[in-house]
Amino acid sequence: MNEGTVTTHPLPLQLRSDGTLRHLLTLEGLNRRQIEQLLQRAQAFVRPLGATPPATRDLEGVTVANLFTEPSTRTRVSFELAAKRLGASVVNLEVQLSSRVKGESMLNTIYTLESLHVDVMVIRDAEAGIPGLVADHVKPHVSVLSAGEAHVSHPTQGLLDALTILQRKPDLSKLAVAIVGDVRHSRVARSAYDALTRLGIGELRIVAPPVFMPEAGEMPGCARHTTLAKGLKDVDVIMMLRIQKERMSQASLPDADRYFAKYGLTPDRLQLARPDAIVMHPQPMNRGIEIASDVADGPQSVIRDQVRNGVAVRMAVLAEVIANRGSLPPA
Ligand code: ASP
Repeated sequence: MNEGTVTTHPLPLQLRSDGTLRHLLTLEGLNRRQIEQLLQRAQAFVRPLGATPPATRDLEGVTVANLFTEPSTRTRVSFELAAKRLGASVVNLEVQLSSRVKGESMLNTIYTLESLHVDVMVIRDAEAGIPGLVADHVKPHVSVLSAGEAHVSHPTQGLLDALTILQRKPDLSKLAVAIVGDVRHSRVARSAYDALTRLGIGELRIVAPPVFMPEAGEMPGCARHTTLAKGLKDVDVIMMLRIQKERMSQASLPDADRYFAKYGLTPDRLQLARPDAIVMHPQPMNRGIEIASDVADGPQSVIRDQVRNGVAVRMAVLAEVIANRGSLPPA
């Protein structure tokens, strides 16, 4: 698979007129070079555990607001730490809005935040289109970063997943990656697809029960498998996904025990992959449903690296959009 096989949907909204990144709403419109530059920038912020985390002044005088209308632990905390480590001030807002009033209320909230000199709005929302709606209405000096949009995209997760793979296996063109589980409802899978295909991944497989397969035609270029026996055979990377209960009706939820029996990643099944394969999970994990604890905490797991890399990636994205903004508007 290479870059040329992927249909791109450039989103001019997220780029400035000079082609640099202003908002990060999706990885879809970014080219390979832009993704590589963000990953290089992120790698420079990675430190071993126990070392002092990086601290810079790239965001001195900048205010970042985290506006989350869906639960989040790692993403919200890591955006906050990332902003603070770059010298920004941070405000956290957790708002519950009914979808009927969402668009209007969201815009009122962002106009208020603009008046409070907020420069970067980090938005997570269960409704598709909200980060883009906000990006379309903010003043030119403000950037909007998606922290997860419905089932559609989770761009910083896609970047941190790519970075985690690259740290262990730098030649992506030689790798086979299996994305396993509820791919249909997963924004993580879609952003991983965008990042890895742009970066020239060798082979990308989707492994899921039929009900969790994405729509026909989505994620072109991926082989689709309904069994782990075929889907995990000789892969280098296994990305496990959580069942997105919040995006489906109770009636369509599979029975947890039966799901684990067929699709759970156990030590035995891990042996289907290459001996040096790595195991990833965006978390929160459901141990005993999609993954066994022995695998989640085992020697092939890089799940904790993903968390650490999340802060570095969010630092890189924040530093990038603020650097691209140039000078502040007149007071
Ligand atoms: N934390 C990830 C997300 O926000 C994965 C998950 O929730 O399953 O999409």
